[in-house]
Amino acid sequence: MDLTMRIDIITIFPKMFEPVLNESIMRRAQAKGKVKFFIHDLRDYTSDKHRKVDDRVFGGGSGMLMRPEPIFNAIAKLKRQAKVILLSPQGKKLDQKIVKRLSKEKNLILICGHYEGVDERVREKLVDEEISIGDYVLTGGELPAMVLVDSLVRLIPGVLGDKNSLNFESFEGNLLEHPHYTRPANFRRMKVPEVLLSGDHQKIEAWRKKEALKRTKQRRPDLLNSK
Ligand code: SAM
Repeated sequence: MDLTMRIDIITIFPKMFEPVLNESIMRRAQAKGKVKFFIHDLRDYTSDKHRKVDDRVFGGGSGMLMRPEPIFNAIAKLKRQAKVILLSPQGKKLDQKIVKRLSKEKNLILICGHYEGVDERVREKLVDEEISIGDYVLTGGELPAMVLVDSLVRLIPGVLGDKNSLNFESFEGNLLEHPHYTRPANFRRMKVPEVLLSGDHQKIEAWRKKEALKRTKQRRPDLLNSK
């Protein structure tokens, strides 16, 4: 069985992905064969000599829009039972539940918009899901695509070294994670809570649960009521 996830990204700025996908966990995930990235320059799917990817908006108004033709061409060339995701401020807001669901997909195609966005026919005919990374507007879909990729690749089994780091992190069980400390135990007269130095794992566990709950109530009470 092929356990490798394949992610195709369609963009007009392919170089933006090089530094991010070739460092740290993303680089290791590829080296371990857990994920393969294919970055496609949308201009390669144009048919005019100027390799034009945008055009004026019908009905008037300022700004340009991404033309449908190159995106349709790119998807036709790539589609291999993949889920097609458009990065869009109008999409579902990304959260850990969506990340978990998408991390189980084998093939994803991400479309990065620019200008005023993409022609509506792209949404209607090609896109399975629209994802937003938050209620603000960026200039392009590249950074959102990188956020999405980073968040889901780390959940692919075997990508992170220590499995436990996934079990106890924020948003698991609708909680934020408890506070952490490292050496030294006394730093500029600021002391690490005694219980963490006690070696009593049950007590440590109880303290962590209590702190996680306290922190969630203070910072994100909405999480406690979410499904
Ligand atoms: N005119 C669009 C609107 O008002 O909904 C905004 C277009 S935005 C300037 C250009 C592109 O950036 C979008 O097509 C999308 O791909 C990307 N983008 C911007 N903000 C985003 C967000 N919060 N989440 C995901 N993608 C975003």
